[in-house]
Amino acid sequence: MKPQTSDETRAADASGGEKTLTIPDTISVRELAEIMGTSPLELIKELIKNGVMASINQSINHDVAVALARQFGFTVEEETAAAEISPAKVEVSQVKEEDTNQLEPRPPVVTIMGHVDHGKTSLLDVIRQTNVTAQEVGGITQHIGAYQVNVNGQKITFIDTPGHESFTAMRARGARVTDIAVLVVAADDGIMPQTVEAIDHAKAAGVPIVVAINKTDLPDANPERVKQQLAEHGLVIEEWGGDVITVPVSAKTKEGIELLLENILLVAEISQLKANPDRSAAGTIIEAELDPQRGPMATVLVQTGTLRAGDVVVAGETGGKVKAMFNEWGQRVKEAGPSTPVKILGLQSVPRAGDLLQAVPDEKAARTIMEAKEREADLTRVGPRALTLEAVSGEIAAGKVKELAVVLKADVQGSVEAIRSSLEKLSSDRLKVNIIHTGTGNISESDVMLALASQGIAIGFNVKAEPGTRRLAQTEGVDIRYYTIIYQLIEDMEKALQGLLEPTMVEVIDGHAEVREVFRVRGGRVAGCYVLDGSISRGSACRVLRGQEVLRTSRIASLRRFKDDAREVQAGYECGIVVSDFDDFQEGDVIEAFHRERKG
Ligand code: GDP
Repeated sequence: MKPQTSDETRAADASGGEKTLTIPDTISVRELAEIMGTSPLELIKELIKNGVMASINQSINHDVAVALARQFGFTVEEETAAAEISPAKVEVSQVKEEDTNQLEPRPPVVTIMGHVDHGKTSLLDVIRQTNVTAQEVGGITQHIGAYQVNVNGQKITFIDTPGHESFTAMRARGARVTDIAVLVVAADDGIMPQTVEAIDHAKAAGVPIVVAINKTDLPDANPERVKQQLAEHGLVIEEWGGDVITVPVSAKTKEGIELLLENILLVAEISQLKANPDRSAAGTIIEAELDPQRGPMATVLVQTGTLRAGDVVVAGETGGKVKAMFNEWGQRVKEAGPSTPVKILGLQSVPRAGDLLQAVPDEKAARTIMEAKEREADLTRVGPRALTLEAVSGEIAAGKVKELAVVLKADVQGSVEAIRSSLEKLSSDRLKVNIIHTGTGNISESDVMLALASQGIAIGFNVKAEPGTRRLAQTEGVDIRYYTIIYQLIEDMEKALQGLLEPTMVEVIDGHAEVREVFRVRGGRVAGCYVLDGSISRGSACRVLRGQEVLRTSRIASLRRFKDDAREVQAGYECGIVVSDFDDFQEGDVIEAFHRERKG
């Protein structure tokens, strides 16, 4: 960034007599004194008091200059050049490729989904084992959250956490990483409830599906029945004139694995996946942890551009300089292009899975973005906004949304069908009720995440949500509506579509914990707390208060009693708390946990 000269630097008296300054990136004591209209000696004295030894012609750190100016009663304005790189711009540039002639094909990113025990993990393992190149064989495979394989000279990236739950959780945070979903269906078992969920989750995300009919080695395998069932769920296979590719495989005998991979590449080719490797990198955090020895570690899936060791990055509300990067073999790498997963070292704190990562020109730009994000830090801002039915109603009234996305769970299939057809009748050309998933049984965490990712609501008819699910919905702000009478359910939805429902959400304080001690762990700080009243739950929304001041609105990232993770800690107990994207604790700070819920 071009430093401003002192001529360009503005020292103005604002109308109210308030003194305003813009301080350039690099500034000497003399220059600072000039724009402040004071003697350099005064400044040097003040600097010494603050423990900074500087001579008159020496450049001082920007932060120090700002602090000094403030000490002298100036209001310091942000420099526009740095402020122009707003978080909004960063996020948009991740998904949009501006320079179409620089685009090159990139490997597809694949997530494996399906019912429990149908062989997702086995497939991921067998694909990893059979498709490594000779040089990699020597390495020790490490779980970093994703891995790449080579198929006839082409690469495929697999996300290593199978299941639609994590897929949708990432999507709920605004991240779109998966290009293709591989739906695993065991040939002996056929389509099961979680298979249906996986289909609906992939469809809601608009991701193409390749079906792996697994366990074809078993004597009671019946691939034809699976194909029939797929058609019943709206997936018409190629043989029958549709566009869904099915591949019979066996993770046990490795039969069909190569064919599956070739078909994934085929779908990738049809999807024309491209990215520009010659720009600054942007990607998504797919896993992150605080390593006790090495500090914050995060796996980023680079989605566009090339990430290099030494790059300055912003990830969610944290950032830093990439000190080192490792591939899934634990080998150090210098750069990572589009669709490549790498584990990076050098972030200041632990980002969250689903956070966007962006390489920025320099540390100043990173700081500006991080500060801007900090100012905006509010739960509703992260990922797609959770919408209550009332809020959707308001947006409909304002003409902002044209669709009400609904996850519908009921006690019996008959009710599901009855409600579905009534809701569909409410749709008009202008407004649509989009039923993204239905099922029988209680509302699950995955239903809530799907509603969140699709900015919709969850409806339970004669069913409940489990306590864990309810807590999740509260923290994420997802609206769950319970009904026992179909007529009422339909009436509410009708009102919502007419834009007539009034907002009724209120905030409820769950408890307070006082910071009694601050523990340093590498790369972060843990607040040793005493719960003063109520209770504190892991994952809950929270504010960090210092006196009357709210330092941060965030989330309880980790909660521990002694060495064990705790879900909830009650008043009168001690605990260790890590708050997402904040660790600047002082003794006496108070962490306030809260949630939002429906009034009355
Ligand atoms: P996941 O829950 O979907 O990840 O399923 P797993 O990969 O854990 O597999 C569940 C069980 O099915 C394990 O006991 C596997 O050994 C077995 N399994 C997976 N794939 C096959 C297969 O192709 N053939 C046979 N016979 N068993 C399989």
